[in-house]
Amino acid sequence: MRYLLVELLFITILFLTFTSTHSQTFRFERPVPDTIQTHGNYLYGEPWFWASGGAHRGLDMWITYDTVYSAADGYVEFAAFASGEDGYEPNGFGNYLRTRSAWNSKTIYIYYAHLSEILVNTGDSIFTGKPIAISGNTGNSSGPHLHFEIRENNPYYLAEKTRRNPELWFSMSGTGAIYGRVPDAEDNTRVDISPDPKPRPPYTTFSYGLTYGFFDNTIGSDDIYNENYAFGDVKPGTYTITALDGEYRRTVTVLAGEVINADETTYIYERENILSLTLEQNYPNPFGEAIPSGNPSTIIKYQILKEVRGERVEVRLVVYDVLGRKVALLVNKEQSAGSYEVQFDASANSATASGLSSGIYYYQLTANYYSQVRKMILLR
Ligand SMILES: [Zn+2]
Repeated sequence: MRYLLVELLFITILFLTFTSTHSQTFRFERPVPDTIQTHGNYLYGEPWFWASGGAHRGLDMWITYDTVYSAADGYVEFAAFASGEDGYEPNGFGNYLRTRSAWNSKTIYIYYAHLSEILVNTGDSIFTGKPIAISGNTGNSSGPHLHFEIRENNPYYLAEKTRRNPELWFSMSGTGAIYGRVPDAEDNTRVDISPDPKPRPPYTTFSYGLTYGFFDNTIGSDDIYNENYAFGDVKPGTYTITALDGEYRRTVTVLAGEVINADETTYIYERENILSLTLEQNYPNPFGEAIPSGNPSTIIKYQILKEVRGERVEVRLVVYDVLGRKVALLVNKEQSAGSYEVQFDASANSATASGLSSGIYYYQLTANYYSQVRKMILLR
């Protein structure tokens, strides 16, 4: 019995690794396509000079009237139409969604604001990458855009230090992010970055950022990074960051997928998505002699899309049976970025002369911290 429980636990772990994340902080998918800049006119934490006080508490994304995708798995806590409000937000957001996700022991609330259409209802489950709304210009908005805001643990709009800078939490495709802390900087201290870090087109330059954290006490920093400035959507390269007339000066190199601390450039805190794996469905599938003109072998293809700062990658490709027992070790070596193809022969991968029996098998590709699993069916 104990043995069986261990196997079941193993299978559970195998499935949990399917999403292949390794990060110290929460990771979102972008709610807009990669071509949309996630960094608009008002920066995170930028004081509103025209309002009675407070700062901009989220990010403005330059999407006009187009599909907004869920940034995370979770559910819709509140879908506000027109003048509706959820009790936590004095609605300047127009049509908006408040969604709720769990991450570690934290609750992450995401607000999607100024929507023209809402495609989900209060209580619906939502899934990363699925359409949830159409962006727009409702509420207190001077042009179509998506206001995207994160509140950690408490959705009340004035709760202290609950906001987080989404620029540091997006998973990235082809870009990185830089953060740091200018000591003793008041809010709205200008932090320059050179050269222009924005990929283009269609991104618009933002060759500076602003510090945040004091002027509006709802504005928080990441629990681990503890930053007071950040640059997202940074194209790979080496940058000089300066503030306070050069009193603060850092040189930092960032690669695609990295979230890097400018204050400790020898240490990379995050290597999110640096390595990108694709594990393809085996072909043929199902496979085996019971398939017309079939045979007991199948091809598994995979791609390693990026290398980690020139390092080679420890790659393992293992086949498990439905009980989680390892039945074949197909790859176990260092590999560099590229496309690979492996043949798996079920007649040559068992203690018995005839090979594996019919059934479901799983194959798992692991490369450094990253992992993907797929299922295949053998019919003999
Ligand atoms: Zn906004």
